[in-house]
Amino acid sequence: MEIARRMRSIPPYLFADLDRKRAALRAKGVDVINIAIGDPDLPTPPHIIAALTEAARNPATHVYPPYEGTAEFRQAVAGWYARRFGVSLDPDREVLALIGSKEGLAHIPWVFVDPGDVVLVSDPGYPVYRTATLMAEGTPYPVPLRPEDGWRPDLGAIPEEIARRAKVFFLNYPNNPTAAVADLAFFNDVADFARRHGILVVHDNTYSEIAYDGFRPPSFLEARGAKEVGIELHSLSKTYCMTGWRLGFAVGNPEAVGALGTLKTNIDSGQFTAIQAAGVAALTGPQQAVRERVAVWEARRNAVVRGLRAAGLDAPMPRATFYLWIPVPGGYDSVSFAAHLLEAAGVVVAPGIGYGQRGSGHIRISLTAPDDRFAEAIRRIGDRVGAAARPGGR
Ligand SMILES: *Cc1c(COP(=O)(O)O)cnc(C)c1O
Repeated sequence: MEIARRMRSIPPYLFADLDRKRAALRAKGVDVINIAIGDPDLPTPPHIIAALTEAARNPATHVYPPYEGTAEFRQAVAGWYARRFGVSLDPDREVLALIGSKEGLAHIPWVFVDPGDVVLVSDPGYPVYRTATLMAEGTPYPVPLRPEDGWRPDLGAIPEEIARRAKVFFLNYPNNPTAAVADLAFFNDVADFARRHGILVVHDNTYSEIAYDGFRPPSFLEARGAKEVGIELHSLSKTYCMTGWRLGFAVGNPEAVGALGTLKTNIDSGQFTAIQAAGVAALTGPQQAVRERVAVWEARRNAVVRGLRAAGLDAPMPRATFYLWIPVPGGYDSVSFAAHLLEAAGVVVAPGIGYGQRGSGHIRISLTAPDDRFAEAIRRIGDRVGAAARPGGR
């Protein structure tokens, strides 16, 4: 047996050593606190579960679903975009159901990228953009994100020759892992840049509903002429605490949405109709459950940021997502500081290097663990790590 070359382009798993250390600590009976993973700790709202169970009892849902998603689901998506963003979508041509947004992201380079074509991916960024590009034998170009630019790309600094060769530009605001946000003015600039260079923008808007202090993140499709140059991917995973259900969607440019749909008819046969019915209940039903969940994360954000600052870490206050993107203290990089937090405090965080070279000075903490676990994690960090983290402490 020989593994294909394209598989060998997948980057080596960076955290094998950290995982080994974590397993060894657990084996010694240490109570390890995991605040690394971005998976909501709160359950799916009950009315969504009820819609699933009711639909699952109907034998009409037991057959293959329509490839592009059920008409009811696509109409629910279009209605939600109109209400939430004031963006009008044709449910037949501009909406496509996905088996989670990751599925769509991973397939997009197959549709738009020929071997050697450049794909603009942010560094740091969600790793799927890069690996999916490599799978399609495209060339990822890491667009640097810098704290002084609010972790948004400097479009003017992308070399002309790279922009000319680029086919796709993956963007994600509110952003994982940096928790950065973007406004409509930035999206207008992106749309202009994409039009000038003939690039398809793929905006990953997974975190549009997870925002705080009254902030309402925009859709890329609100930007001038965005539908001519881009699509947006969305997910029910984070908004409705449905990561295990695998339901998302792509919307926007009808040619692009249609082409992605054509690829998918050759790969999968769609998501279970009963899960799409649950998605309809989520998108068209009461949104109170979303507000309640976001309020839990907002209160936790306030407490955790305060606690970590008191414990000696330089934690910024994010306006969206459930991530804290925290610079590591002097003398550490992201992997060595994550190892130190694990060994000294039994706390698991995500080293920023996992999101790209420019993540090497940060760790990512996810607010998706219960409050009491955070209280304990903060206490341990304050007692055993914080002193060394403070300026002059090491
Ligand atoms: C969680 C996440 C996804 C994946 O969402 P699914 O719909 O569950 O596949 C996509 N993009 C980003 C940036 C994420 O953080």
